[in-house]
Amino acid sequence: MDNIYSAVAGNLRRIQDRIADAASRAGRRAEDITLVAVSKMHPAEAVLAALGAGQVHFGENRVQEAAGKFPDLRGAYPAMRLHIIGGLQTNKARDAVRLADVIESMDRPRLADAIADAIAREGRTPDLLIQVNVGAEEQKSGVGRSDADAFIIDCKARFGAALTGLMCIPPAEDDPAPHFDWLADRAARHGLKVVSMGMSGDFETAIAHGATHVRVGTAIFGTRG
Ligand SMILES: *Cc1c(COP(=O)(O)O)cnc(C)c1O
Repeated sequence: MDNIYSAVAGNLRRIQDRIADAASRAGRRAEDITLVAVSKMHPAEAVLAALGAGQVHFGENRVQEAAGKFPDLRGAYPAMRLHIIGGLQTNKARDAVRLADVIESMDRPRLADAIADAIAREGRTPDLLIQVNVGAEEQKSGVGRSDADAFIIDCKARFGAALTGLMCIPPAEDDPAPHFDWLADRAARHGLKVVSMGMSGDFETAIAHGATHVRVGTAIFGTRG
């Protein structure tokens, strides 16, 4: 077996075991937690290795990079689900709607407008998550905490059941737990079932605090060149 295939398969197995352990410690079921394998900056071969090992959900930051890697794989892997997880420019909304099964980074009214327009034009509706900038970091995408309720209510009215949840990336230097608690609570208040939070360094904490989706890159595919 090729190196990348055995390495990725082994890493996926270890992450799934850690997810199961974290779920069990939290009194939750492992099957209620979805692993999104973040393949940004890794070649299509890495994605193929993960697909071969049974991985279904993938995350990419950039629409253009995803467009180069994923469309060719759909035929052979019809169950595959692509998540766009990076900050999205309005002029990329149409490509994102065409390509993605889930857009996790809806974060402002003008982007919601562009996504609604793209859905109408493409006749295809991905699941939508609202990204919240829980730490109010300037360099990060996301609606601010204080604007989140109004934006969520607005997007629910507009997108209905396609709005499935919330997503966040806490500040690297903070204890992530209070941020995770805030996001899970906010999702519950609005009746949204998907809570996407936790990465390679903190996904077990995220599971303890209510994550339904964890987005793991480095621990599966290695460091990004
Ligand atoms: C890169 C990225 C991840 C994965 O981060 P790792 O630390 O490599 O696991 C998760 N979520 C988002 C939004 C990312 O950009």
